[in-house]
Amino acid sequence: MQAEVIAVGTEILLGQIVDTNSAFIARGLADAGIEVYYHSLVGDNADRLTTVVNQARSRSDLVVISGGLGPTKDDLTKQTVAHLLGVKLIEDAAAMKKIQQHFEITGREMTPNNRLQALYPDGSLPLKNETGMAVGAFYRDPDAADIMLLPGPPSEAEPMFEHQALPQIIAAYHRHEFLVSKVLRFFGIGESKLVTELSDLIDHQTNPTIAPYAKVNEVTLRITARATEKAVGEQLLRDMTTTIMARVGDYFYGFGDDNSLAQVVVNELIDRKLTITAAESLTAGKFQSTLGDVPGVSAVFPGGFVTYANDAKRDLLGIPQEVIDAQGVVSEATAKEMAERSRTKLNTDFALSFTGVAGPDSLENQPAGTVWLGLAQRGKAPMAKLVHFTGNRAKIRERSVLAGLDWLRR
Ligand code: ATP
Ligand code: MG
Repeated sequence: MQAEVIAVGTEILLGQIVDTNSAFIARGLADAGIEVYYHSLVGDNADRLTTVVNQARSRSDLVVISGGLGPTKDDLTKQTVAHLLGVKLIEDAAAMKKIQQHFEITGREMTPNNRLQALYPDGSLPLKNETGMAVGAFYRDPDAADIMLLPGPPSEAEPMFEHQALPQIIAAYHRHEFLVSKVLRFFGIGESKLVTELSDLIDHQTNPTIAPYAKVNEVTLRITARATEKAVGEQLLRDMTTTIMARVGDYFYGFGDDNSLAQVVVNELIDRKLTITAAESLTAGKFQSTLGDVPGVSAVFPGGFVTYANDAKRDLLGIPQEVIDAQGVVSEATAKEMAERSRTKLNTDFALSFTGVAGPDSLENQPAGTVWLGLAQRGKAPMAKLVHFTGNRAKIRERSVLAGLDWLRR
């Protein structure tokens, strides 16, 4: 089962807008265990669209097209596809009613071209548009590739794809199968390294399939299994997870789609009823702001310190000037002092500290990217560790925050 995706629109072709629909659609197809082999992009032109759709049909089983279902002259996807299929366009009564009502309510006059939005190629299943007017369509062709038509605006295409199209696709191609999937999240390993470690699995594995996504400073893997029984699929997922963990488990930090490193850390603190604070120099509050993104964090995070200048480290935290003078501000001693003193001041179980060189200039003869992290824990001596980051100022600060979270998690 192979699918491909086509985006239609001259404004995408010319780079005025970015094709997010194809990414969204391809992700959904991949998650549904359908292989996506090609993406194409074509302007609002009937001849070229015909060429691209015919080419796609010659090599794939399903072609998903977005864009050009609207009422204006440049919207010609439906007409073009109906023509190449050799079918008429017919009217979807429900969609027509919705369009008429829209014009009644807004008091505007309905012009004939608005009817176009209610039309779909004869022989296909119309797909309801929850957030707009134009109907989509799913045309199943026993002799050639199936075609799916979706509207252009992502606010319409995404819900239509998720709620109408995907269930139809799963019903059509996985009739007797269950699809189960699981997301594994990794930190501290680049996508290329992760993919290299797992390359044999990613390249040759068809059930489950493994799809890596690189996010900002982290990588996720989605494993999708197909089976005639759900329990069998879940067992396949578990087995594959075990295999993956044996190779790259050191970098694993959690399951789930929207589970950030901060969420994992905060939720664990909440579960274990442990509190945290921080003293931040080069990150200037970014770590605490990241904690603040997680709902429920107030139960474990009373507040903390932004101590950018040396004076603030001395006056807010009470770090002796001698320590700063003798060891430097980007130092093991200062990182430990910042962590321990902030922890004592707010009487928390943990405290992290961040002191380093965000760049672009060096500081105390240390190059940009030199960062000391401190970790204080109740009842233990404070610790510190030195890390070196590359990248610009924003990256160095962001990586410092993530390294702090990663340290806490371990
Ligand atoms: P409309 O009824 O709004 O005209 P349509 O189905 O005809 O919808 P288009 O005319 O192709 O769709 O595109 C309308 C708008 O939707 C574009 O101007 C663009 O902002 C957005 N859009 C279209 N295709 C994409 C895409 N592939 N990715 C992201 N946005 C898109
Ligand atoms: Mg349009």
